[in-house]
Amino acid sequence: MNLIEVDNVSFAYTEGIPVLKNVTFSLNNGSVAIIGQNGSGKTTLVKLLKALLKPISGDIFINGINTKETTAAKLARTVGLVFQNPNDQIFKNKVLDEVMFGPLNIGQSMEEARENAIKALETVSLVDKKEENPYDLSLSERKLVSIASILSMDTDIVILDEPTIAQDYLGKAKIRSIVHELVQRGKLVITITHDMDFVGECFQRVIVLSEGQLLLDGPAREVFSKEDVLRSANLEPPYVAQLSKTTGYQGVLLSVEEFVAYYRSAMED
Ligand code: ADP
Repeated sequence: MNLIEVDNVSFAYTEGIPVLKNVTFSLNNGSVAIIGQNGSGKTTLVKLLKALLKPISGDIFINGINTKETTAAKLARTVGLVFQNPNDQIFKNKVLDEVMFGPLNIGQSMEEARENAIKALETVSLVDKKEENPYDLSLSERKLVSIASILSMDTDIVILDEPTIAQDYLGKAKIRSIVHELVQRGKLVITITHDMDFVGECFQRVIVLSEGQLLLDGPAREVFSKEDVLRSANLEPPYVAQLSKTTGYQGVLLSVEEFVAYYRSAMED
């Protein structure tokens, strides 16, 4: 059984105007980025994965459970969704209370919830801000609080909607390390993003949506080698992949680390 099974799913907000068309894929652990132009259906797809919306045809199974037969609340222990805008998610006036809210809501004791919240705040390096009001923090830190408030639930599936927006260099590095750590712990991390450099550095698999259809689905290196198909959807490979081409490199390099290693070995030759 797959952790997520999306079987021939279509969806429309308005009858006759499909937003997703016959989308099929399955996911287990690891990291996957969903990319595509604005309006291609990415947010709708993750809302369907969280059972906030239901397919009009086809089925989605989360751990074998059909989303048509469950609710977002019932999936809270399995699927965590971090919204793009933390202001849509944060409503407590103390960071610790915010991060404890999810665990308490699924029935954990005060002590257990506090322990999980502290662990999650350590992961995002904000434990020293636990007594502060989230709205006194920077937007970048507030985003990390909203990530911590999902991590504290320890769900098997973590969905991040545009996590690198409003993050500076350090914030982005933090998010990369969170993704790596979650993957190492056997979780499935899904992100929606426009940040191709982030995808190249962190994500093993890439799903490309174009006008509600699944255009590409495969390992990041394979997807980013299909430049013509990507351009047809107004997307470009990560900057490093483009830069490596200018050096005459034949394959696709996905991260600065890979580029440096390639450059060093080329200099030695
Ligand atoms: P993306 O996340 O890739 O930008 P969305 O899933 O947000 O794409 O949107 C896909 C399409 O669905 C767009 O044409 C958008 O205008 C439309 N759409 C999104 N949300 C709603 C809604 N609540 N009601 C009606 N149409 C919507």
